[in-house]
This record gives sequence, structure tokens and C-alpha cells, in this order.
Amino acid sequence: MSDCIFCKIIERKLPAKIVYEDGVALAFEDINPQAPVHTLIIPKKHIPTILDLKEEDNNLMTHLLTIAKRVAKDKGIAEKGFRIVTNCNPESGQAVYHIHFHVLGGRHMNWPPG
Ligand code: AMP
Ligand code: ZN
Repeated sequence: MSDCIFCKIIERKLPAKIVYEDGVALAFEDINPQAPVHTLIIPKKHIPTILDLKEEDNNLMTHLLTIAKRVAKDKGIAEKGFRIVTNCNPESGQAVYHIHFHVLGGRHMNWPPG
């Protein structure tokens, strides 16, 4: 989608610190990190929110979780602990309407989240 900043990152029209890429997914560092580790995992397919997922996206979304696991291991936070977050719609704080998983770690994570 032409006005989506994450699609622009996929197309290399916007810079990002990319840490993983394959044919269907991309992982890059969040520009405004909320923890020592804050990486975003996105599908290359433009899907605005969790509400837009279709049955055919099941494997893709599971694949994103596998990448999240890999990022957590690569960054050394897997054993200590980390959090995977996805926001949906305005009250959650979703700002970018291209599905993404936040992988957060490297500090104690509070519960309940704010
Ligand atoms: P959300 O509020 O769940 O939609 O999260 C959007 C995330 O994208 C925020 O944590 C932003 O800091 C991050 N973000 C926005 N623009 C960029 C960008 N150009 N590169 C990397 N991360 C970004
Ligand atoms: Zn997009």
C-alpha cells in the first residue's frame, strides 16, 4: 500500500535497521524503542489489523511468531524473558495499520501493561 510506512520499509523507500528478512516477512528495529530490545516483525503482505486476518493467513502469522522466537534468541533475551505485543485499533494505541508484532525485552516487563 502506497501510504503505509511499513510497506515503504519493505520496498526500501524508507530506511530501517533490518535484522531479518525472507520472502514473506521482515524484522527491523523500532525507531522509538520502549525497551533495550524492541524489534518489529511484519508480514510483507499488507494486512491492516488482526481483524483483517483470513484463514489463509494462518501459516503466515505463525511464521511471524517463529521469527519472533529467533529474534529473542539472537538478542539473548529468550531465557530471561520477553514479551510479544500486537495492538489493534485506536484504544490499543495502534499507530501503524500494517500488522506487526512488537518483541520487547532486556528489562523487567510490567503487568498489567499500560
Ligand atoms: P503500534 O503503535 O502498535 O502501531 O506500533 C507502531 C510502532 O512502529 C511504534 O512502536 C513506532 O515507534 C514504530 N515505528 C513507526 N515508524 C517507524 C519507522 N519508520 N521505523 C521503525 N519503527 C517505526
Ligand atoms: Zn503496509
